[in-house]
Amino acid sequence: MANDDYHKILLDESEIPTQWYNIVPDLPEPPPPALHPGTHEPAGPDDFAPLFPMELIMQEVSQERYIDIPGEVLDVLKLWRPSPLFRARRLEKLLDTPAKIFYKYEGVSPAGSHKPNTSVPQAYYNAKAGVKKLTTETGAGQWGSALAFACAQFDIECEVWQVAASYRQKPHRKTMMEIWGATVHPSPSEVTDFGRELLAQDADHPGSLGIAISEAVSQAAPYEDVRYALGSVLNHVLMHQTIIGEEALLQLAKVGETPDVLVGCTGGGSNFGGLAFPFLREKMAGKMNPTIRCVEPMACPTLTKGEYRYDFGDTAGMTPLMKMHTLGHSFIPEPIHAGGLRYHGMAPLVSHIYELGMVEAISIGQEECFAGALQFARAEGIVPAPEPTHAIAAAVREALACKESGEEKVILTALCGHGHLDLASYEKYLAGEIKDFDLSEDAISAAMAGVPTIAG
Ligand SMILES: *Cc1c(COP(=O)(O)O)cnc(C)c1O
Repeated sequence: MANDDYHKILLDESEIPTQWYNIVPDLPEPPPPALHPGTHEPAGPDDFAPLFPMELIMQEVSQERYIDIPGEVLDVLKLWRPSPLFRARRLEKLLDTPAKIFYKYEGVSPAGSHKPNTSVPQAYYNAKAGVKKLTTETGAGQWGSALAFACAQFDIECEVWQVAASYRQKPHRKTMMEIWGATVHPSPSEVTDFGRELLAQDADHPGSLGIAISEAVSQAAPYEDVRYALGSVLNHVLMHQTIIGEEALLQLAKVGETPDVLVGCTGGGSNFGGLAFPFLREKMAGKMNPTIRCVEPMACPTLTKGEYRYDFGDTAGMTPLMKMHTLGHSFIPEPIHAGGLRYHGMAPLVSHIYELGMVEAISIGQEECFAGALQFARAEGIVPAPEPTHAIAAAVREALACKESGEEKVILTALCGHGHLDLASYEKYLAGEIKDFDLSEDAISAAMAGVPTIAG
């Protein structure tokens, strides 16, 4: 591309990456292993077998730098991939910044977010292993709809537990999941023992991702032909998302740019890892030197306020123990609108690279996020999902700092989903009803008290 007045950078279908990137073998230190929840010994593939098919388990523990994307998976991904990389020229102008802002847009997928990048391969490997039904949790409904869509592609059933707070805030996500053939329950639900126990304590329980995971796992592990799927956090999920960063590398190369700053929102860490890991590979190889920053909500600041230690992935304590930044598996975040960022833990891989000092982290409150989202929508047109408003707010901060300093930094971020089904949140913001939540330090201490003590 010779001209310098491009607005979006598109790849041809033939340029779609055909391999996922596994960052593990490139890291200066190996990440700590997952532990069996009972014995606290390193978990082996068999410990994961009640939850996942063997091909996904092997990806979870893989030491291979690259893994081929099966042709059947690529065929489905090509419904929307490669996704566009935009240069936010109108936002740059609005902010009057010398910075160049690029955003990789994942809202073009059928479910409207980056989640189908992993739901499609997960449904594929499960179908190949003879699995008849997948169970899962969903927060904002993004992951549930992504998995419902993928299961429809490979002809398997899908049953979803949606966090009750989101179930009430975003009723159309349920309809979307049902259109693709899934069954949806609010969580806590009457379907499981754990759900009934919680509802007996509080009939209006807001739920949490940790609780919904417990419910979904309990309905998969005991059954031969049912497995569970997780939309974030795990190594294989982050690896499936690296297709985002691989495409963005190709796209920036076409216009001769390399990022100085990369910012991404982090709930469980998958859209961030997906964008950032291929750039980290280039950084480790000395080919570029971007500052890479995670952005999390002030109401659920896992990296910036959590402790780095072994904890359960779910509230009932059924999953393997993972070493990660955690607020405690029983922590119930305030019902902020970025439902996808309300998770007590952070991906073990993102936690590990943060401990190694390879990435930074900040937290931003939802008032600043929605203000940034409105600027973005009015300039660029796209209405962002509440989660990536955190990435946008951080990009706006950087761009305004460049205005002060006069630096022409190249800022790259992921707009990991659109907000068409999150308009109730915007309605509240426009009515002046969105406020930052004061984080309850007591709630964190109480939740941390329940985290098992494990050496190492
Ligand atoms: C699920 C979701 C998130 C949070 O999950 P990550 O694994 O941190 O990416 C963020 N944004 C959107 C649009 C989501 O659907």
